[in-house]
Amino acid sequence: MALLLHSTPERREIWSRVFAEESEPFFATEGDVTDPALVTHLACWMPPKDLTRYPNLSVVIGVGAGTDHLPPLPEGVALSRTVAPGIEGMVRDWVVLAVLALHRDLPLYLDQAARGEWTVHKTLLARSRRVGIMGMGRIGTLVAQTLGALGFGVLGWSRSARPVNGVRTFGSDDLDAFLSQSDILVGLLPLTDDTRGLLNDRLFAQLPQGARLVQAGRGPQLDMDALRRALDSGQLAAAMLDVTDPEPLPGDHWAWADPRVIVTPHIASLTDAEEGAHHALAVIRAGREGAPLPGLVDRERGY
Ligand code: NAP
Repeated sequence: MALLLHSTPERREIWSRVFAEESEPFFATEGDVTDPALVTHLACWMPPKDLTRYPNLSVVIGVGAGTDHLPPLPEGVALSRTVAPGIEGMVRDWVVLAVLALHRDLPLYLDQAARGEWTVHKTLLARSRRVGIMGMGRIGTLVAQTLGALGFGVLGWSRSARPVNGVRTFGSDDLDAFLSQSDILVGLLPLTDDTRGLLNDRLFAQLPQGARLVQAGRGPQLDMDALRRALDSGQLAAAMLDVTDPEPLPGDHWAWADPRVIVTPHIASLTDAEEGAHHALAVIRAGREGAPLPGLVDRERGY
């Protein structure tokens, strides 16, 4: 039983050290594999082309939080996405930064600053602004707790309407009611067939007029043209995006130059190599003990 890493030199160095410290069998590259039958776990962003080389492969571990970019895996191979407090905390920080930025009209003030204009606008108290979080998973729940502590009214939407303390939760059937009360909408959904293109004209029309959008899920969930139409009509006042379609966003894309939009280049979280290695160790050990695999992806649901 051994883990094969298929990744960058930087990750290789850190994982080699962590696996050596923990005395877990490890191949740092495909070239190091002495016997393909020893490889039971593969950790990668994208797998190598030919997985049939590894007859005993049982788990692929995605080194990021999302696994939507991965090709179909052979039958019987489980998929685990990296769950790590560091990643989740980083995304929480970015989303809270974005919610505060839009709550306090930062795009407007940055635009004024670029012209040297000193104009003061009316501002709302946090408790008068309702933040609707689409995706109440590990990260959405963290975000909800922090925004709640800052005084915002927090609403959550998920497939199961999973209850979270202090949050008004809505399920799939209640999307309209959820949207109509979301002054700032936060996208924190995995990319699946159900969520692709979900942030579109129809959805924006259901938000309160002048709502704001924070998007940290995945680029293809947001129709960028619909975003522009909603901004132009005043239905949306501003947006802050960490993920876009396409990525990288071309330098001449309208969103870079639009003062109502702030774009960051998919940096809400960057996987910490050491945390990733510890997640992989947890997956290996859970398998050995017959315990549930951390970060197991339900292939049917797509996340
Ligand atoms: P998670 O724990 O798997 O939670 C996913 C949440 O989305 C769950 O609440 C789930 O509902 C809900 N959901 C999924 N499909 C849905 C649908 N069709 N309708 C309604 N709700 C749906 O995931 P997480 O760790 O919080 O991460 C969420 C996403 O954030 C990732 O998949 C990734 O796309 C994104 N992300 C982005 C960055 C970045 O750098 N920008 C970094 C990390 C993650 P249930 O609770 O009912 O299952």
